[in-house]
Amino acid sequence: MMNLSAAGALTPAPVLPSKPWFQRPSLQVETLVLLCVGFLLLSGNGPFWRAALAGRGWELVATWGFAAALFAAFSAFYFAFLALLATRLTVRPLLSLLVVCTAFAAWYMDHYAIYLDRAMLRNVLATNVNEARELFVWGMVPRVLLLGVLPAALIWWPRLKQRSLGRALAVRLGWIAVALALGAASLLLVFADFASLMRNHKEVRYLLTPGNVVAALAGNALGGAQRPSQPRLPVGEDARLGASWSGRTRPVMFVLIVGETARAQNFSLNGYARQTNPQLARQDVINFPHATACGTSTEVSLPCMFSPYGRVHYDEEKIRGHESVLHVLARAGFKVLWRDNQSGCKGVCEGLPAEQLDDAKVEALCAEGHCLDEVLLQGMEGIARDNKGNLLVVMHQLGSHGPAYFKRYPAVFRQFSPACQNEDLSTCTTAEIVNAYDNSLLYTDFFVSKVIDFLAGAQQQYDTAMLYVSDHGESLGEGGLYLHGMPYPIAPAVQTQVPFVMWLSPGFRRSFKIDQDCLRSNAGAAVSHDNLFHSLLGVLDVQTQAYDKSRDLFAPCRPAPVVALNGPEKAH
Ligand SMILES: [Zn+2]
Repeated sequence: MMNLSAAGALTPAPVLPSKPWFQRPSLQVETLVLLCVGFLLLSGNGPFWRAALAGRGWELVATWGFAAALFAAFSAFYFAFLALLATRLTVRPLLSLLVVCTAFAAWYMDHYAIYLDRAMLRNVLATNVNEARELFVWGMVPRVLLLGVLPAALIWWPRLKQRSLGRALAVRLGWIAVALALGAASLLLVFADFASLMRNHKEVRYLLTPGNVVAALAGNALGGAQRPSQPRLPVGEDARLGASWSGRTRPVMFVLIVGETARAQNFSLNGYARQTNPQLARQDVINFPHATACGTSTEVSLPCMFSPYGRVHYDEEKIRGHESVLHVLARAGFKVLWRDNQSGCKGVCEGLPAEQLDDAKVEALCAEGHCLDEVLLQGMEGIARDNKGNLLVVMHQLGSHGPAYFKRYPAVFRQFSPACQNEDLSTCTTAEIVNAYDNSLLYTDFFVSKVIDFLAGAQQQYDTAMLYVSDHGESLGEGGLYLHGMPYPIAPAVQTQVPFVMWLSPGFRRSFKIDQDCLRSNAGAAVSHDNLFHSLLGVLDVQTQAYDKSRDLFAPCRPAPVVALNGPEKAH
């Protein structure tokens, strides 16, 4: 105070030797990094600490020792990594970015109990602008401001001390060596506990923020970098229409509806207590109640379900590097059309005709940059009329894409109420969230049934059929989990069990000689996305080496080919 008033006077005499209280402190770059690392581990890692220390009592000294050792070890390793990149010029932007990203990531992880791995990050990055807008919820603002923006601004406050280049290098290498030694020593102290944590709960590494974000970004950058230069490797180059096609009088129209975020458990066709399938229940459909998805996210499931590899031979590089069943069908003579009301076909329809309809301007169906799924039927009459050959249309729904379930259906489908009317699910009760979700399933039920009605009406010109399957399920608060995208091995069944429903017109069944009763009596068996590739080839009688009869759901319900039938008779 004295200094301030002295400075206020115009007398030049007492030059200020002491500093005002707001004087910028002076820090070494290393100190700033260390402070920041400590802050990140404490402020942005609630889910990590809860998972790592689960089942331990805070009254035990060992718990505190384990927590302290982990804190020391991860601080040291984060520090050593950042010390490689941080200079007087880069340290502030680098740390600010990390602090803000961590605040965002931590909010999502806390709220939805998600694990941030490569697939989850790719989901976030691959969503379009409208989906991203829905991921932003006002509830996160206070936390991001307090634990992200404010500390990021503070990073710019201290002055950074300068050293000569040679000395700076020597000091930095010294710091890094000490950090690595300290980190290793801390882990060794609790090694048995740490090893058991990593063995039994590998997934906790996806909770360690911001390491998970950086690792996922790097993984996706490296994994994605090799792809665009290489064209997809062909699958089923020998594909052609089979013998049953020779006597056919009408072309085929097959609609494959790839649903979104519908979970099997909430379909009344599968025994859910609420009537969520009033429309499909009155259609002559075949329902498969035990169907499993290949992944827990669109980014994983979509490429996988259209590939010959599937979950059994899951290999992301191979799946993304090869053609899909759509390319095989196109080669055999189908006009393939991908109609999308979501974030695209994830490469599955690369090079094939595709229509993006999520920003269509259909007045009754579209608002705020989103369209209801009925937009996928817009113009289908014209497509059916103009097309004289075989047609396979894939309709990629917006379905029950969360967290804004309430935006997925028109008001007349708000039958289960009160329904959560907020993207921020934490503002709603579990019952309200489930109500909104179930309403979105009601609308999907209506939409799929409407597609069946359309196909039934096109029977004069086409042999028609429909298959509906969702890409993955959804968590609605069970065990504190929300949304989807859990790493597959630890994902709950609600995220992996999906509805799987088909409808075959009488003409289609006749001409492809499919026994519907047989299909229906087999439908109780376990099926999965892995059946899709081979079942599509099988039901449409497309012959290729890539076809595996054992995974074709229709194979047991079709008479054996004529040659095989006659074979034994001739032999006798
Ligand atoms: Zn999805």
